[in-house]
Amino acid sequence: VTEALRALEAEAARALAYEGNAPANWVMPRNGVDHDILIVGGGQSGLALSFALRRSGIARLSSIEAQPAGQAGIWDTPARMRTLRTQKTLVGPDMGFVPLSFPRWYEAQHGIGSFDAVTRADRTDWADYLRWFEAQSGAAIRHDTRLVRLEPDGEHFRVHIERDGVASVEVSRKVVLATGLLGMGTPSVPPILTEGLPSSRYRHTSQQIDFIALADKDVGVIGTGASAFDAAAVALEAGAASVHMLCRKPAIPTLQVNQPRGYPGAADNYPELPDAVRWTLFNRVSRGGTPPPTDSVLRVIEAPNFHIYLATEISTVRVENGRIVAATNREPMTLDFIVAATGYLQDPRLRPELADVAAHIALWQDRFEAPVTEANPALATYPYLGPGLQFVERVPGAAPYLKNLHCYTAAAALSFGRLIGDLPSMAWGISRLTSALTKDLFYQDFDRHRERITSQSTSVEFNDDLYRSRVWAAT
Ligand SMILES: Cc1cc2nc3c(=O)[nH]c(=O)nc-3n(C[C@H](O)[C@H](O)[C@H](O)COP(=O)(O)OP(=O)(O)OC[C@H]3O[C@@H](n4cnc5c(N)ncnc54)[C@H](O)[C@@H]3O)c2cc1C
Repeated sequence: VTEALRALEAEAARALAYEGNAPANWVMPRNGVDHDILIVGGGQSGLALSFALRRSGIARLSSIEAQPAGQAGIWDTPARMRTLRTQKTLVGPDMGFVPLSFPRWYEAQHGIGSFDAVTRADRTDWADYLRWFEAQSGAAIRHDTRLVRLEPDGEHFRVHIERDGVASVEVSRKVVLATGLLGMGTPSVPPILTEGLPSSRYRHTSQQIDFIALADKDVGVIGTGASAFDAAAVALEAGAASVHMLCRKPAIPTLQVNQPRGYPGAADNYPELPDAVRWTLFNRVSRGGTPPPTDSVLRVIEAPNFHIYLATEISTVRVENGRIVAATNREPMTLDFIVAATGYLQDPRLRPELADVAAHIALWQDRFEAPVTEANPALATYPYLGPGLQFVERVPGAAPYLKNLHCYTAAAALSFGRLIGDLPSMAWGISRLTSALTKDLFYQDFDRHRERITSQSTSVEFNDDLYRSRVWAAT
């Protein structure tokens, strides 16, 4: 196994060399700037972007990641599914560079043809693959390093970071936030839980949950999305006495609402659609809900101690005689612990590291007034992004540096019509962001580039002597 993997690594290195590896840096230096681009987040998006940018000739590039080496992203925690929810054949962070792709990595360990038998990638395999990709792609991510404050400095940023409790400041010309589902907001936890229960009695799915401690306990799960089913499954597998899933709607969503617009013409040109169309389409998904994957449902559906309550909503909760008593629109429930599978709020104003800039960021509510029938406060606070995934000023001229701050997170979904960060969006999203970044870095310094591109070439194909012997000379 190791031998085949080492052979693949050698092949990848050779293939990169044949392809010219990374072109020489072409970005014009600026005084006092440490990085032309700083990528915040070393999950699969940060990895993919770093690989793509270096192959576009951007060398003064740096990546930071809050988690220790090997622990970036969601795949070890909090993801709880057995396999990825997405197709096995989607382009990953290799962006089509086959020797560093998941299928090649998988077959190097399990034999040629073994990938045919995979239905969806195993979650732990995917986490292992990303660790391998990080090492092989030369991402040089600085781990244990957290962005704590982004301070505008002219059109650049003073980036305040913390590593092992030590604070420092670096200056970056552009910053990309590839900080995941929580990067532009917070978990959305129903206030009835925060107000009615001690924090030891509930968790959001994005948090660590001690499922072993839930053995023999009665567990409530609010929500019916993928994470709700995964949490229910892990609780049951850990020996929970019972799991009670609460669904506010009269039925669990089964419709893939986005399916009619999944073809490339519509999906790729989505950002140019009028705001009203983008709002309507996204609001339909937001209201209709996303179906949980069939595999996640199958994982729990046979358990006799698993129950689904349709059209059921908790109105109050309190602890009584050591147990949670939940009043609902039906009979009350007695539980020991509640898992909130209730999604995320997207709003840059909720992020402490963005405190200096958030008030200047245009949100959808600043740019678009939804018709009353389509009002949705949860969507109104999504950032209204420009075509290169850059933030836009709320008041034009008030914060010109925002054109150099890019948002490659789930909060881009309303502007782009996709869950930016996941695998289905990767090839398109990373290509789009890479070309936006290279375009900005080129045109922001166009005067210097014009000088360079119109200068006299120094590249000589061959010396005149090569053909001198054949030059006709009149006798
Ligand atoms: C339970 C679950 C299951 C999912 N399953 C799938 C699936 O099967 N297929 C799929 O394509 N997508 C899936 N997704 C969507 C998933 O979130 C993304 O595909 C993937 O995690 C996106 O990668 P990312 O790099 O954008 O974000 P993340 O993986 O979240 O990585 C972001 C990184 O940024 C770091 N970070 C955040 N803030 C800072 C800071 N201030 N300073 C430094 N570093 C910071 C974090 O530590 C983290 O490592 C799933 C999501 C969840 C929650």
